[in-house]
Amino acid sequence: MSIIKEKIQSYSDEVSASNCQLVAVSKTKPVSDILEAYDAGQRVFGENKVQELREKHELLPKDIQWHMIGHLQSNKVKYIAPFVTLIHAVDSFKLLKEINKQAAKVDRRLDCLLQVHIAQEETKFGLSIEEIHEIINSEEFQNLSNIKIIGLMGMATNTEKVDQVRQEFESLRKKFNDLKNLENEKIEMRELSIGMSNDYQIALECGSTMVRIGSSIFGNRNYNTHV
Ligand SMILES: *Cc1c(COP(=O)(O)O)cnc(C)c1O
Repeated sequence: MSIIKEKIQSYSDEVSASNCQLVAVSKTKPVSDILEAYDAGQRVFGENKVQELREKHELLPKDIQWHMIGHLQSNKVKYIAPFVTLIHAVDSFKLLKEINKQAAKVDRRLDCLLQVHIAQEETKFGLSIEEIHEIINSEEFQNLSNIKIIGLMGMATNTEKVDQVRQEFESLRKKFNDLKNLENEKIEMRELSIGMSNDYQIALECGSTMVRIGSSIFGNRNYNTHV
C-alpha cells in the first residue's frame, strides 16, 4: 500500500476517534498524490491558493469537498464561490461581504469560519474577539443572507513549547464556547478548526473538530511543483 494511503487511514482513524474531521492539506502536491488519498477514502482537501484550488477542482473528482484554508483576497472570491465547501480564514468584514456577494451570484450560501488571531507571531492573520463582536452585532451582517458562520479557525505559534500552544488553543476554545451564546440563524458555533501536522494532538485535546494536516501525510512541500 502507498505511504499516502497508509497515512490517510491512520490519521483519519485517529482524529475520528475524537469526533474530529481530517482536512488533508494538499497544497503544492500533484493531483496524483490527491488521487491516492482519494482512493483511501479521503474526500476533504484543503488548499491555500486560489489558482491552484481552481486547477485541482477542474481536474479531480467532483465529489471532493474543497476547503480554502489560506488567506483569501477579496478580489479572488469569485473564482472559488461556485464550488468551495468551506472558507476557513475569514479575517475581515470586507472579505465576508464579498463572499456573500459572490455566493449570491451563484445562488449558494457559503459556510465560513472566522479566523482568530491567537499566536504571538505578528505575521499570522486573524480577527480579535472585539472585531468579531463588531461584525456580528452590525446590522449589515444580519443582512448577509448568502453566508453562514459555522465556527472559528486559528493557528498557534510555531514553537516547540507545548504549554504555549495548548494555552493558545484553549483561549480559542473559550472564545468559541462564549460565542455559542450568540447563536442565531447566521451563526452556529459547531466547527473549531485548529491543529496542523506539528500540533494536531494538542488540538484534539483542546476540542478541535477539524485538523488541517499536510506535510505529515504528503511529505515535505516543494514550492516549485504543483498540479
Ligand atoms: C499549510 C497549512 C496547513 C498544513 O500544514 P502542515 O504543517 O503541513 O500540516 C494547515 N493550515 C494552514 C492554514 C496551512 O496553510
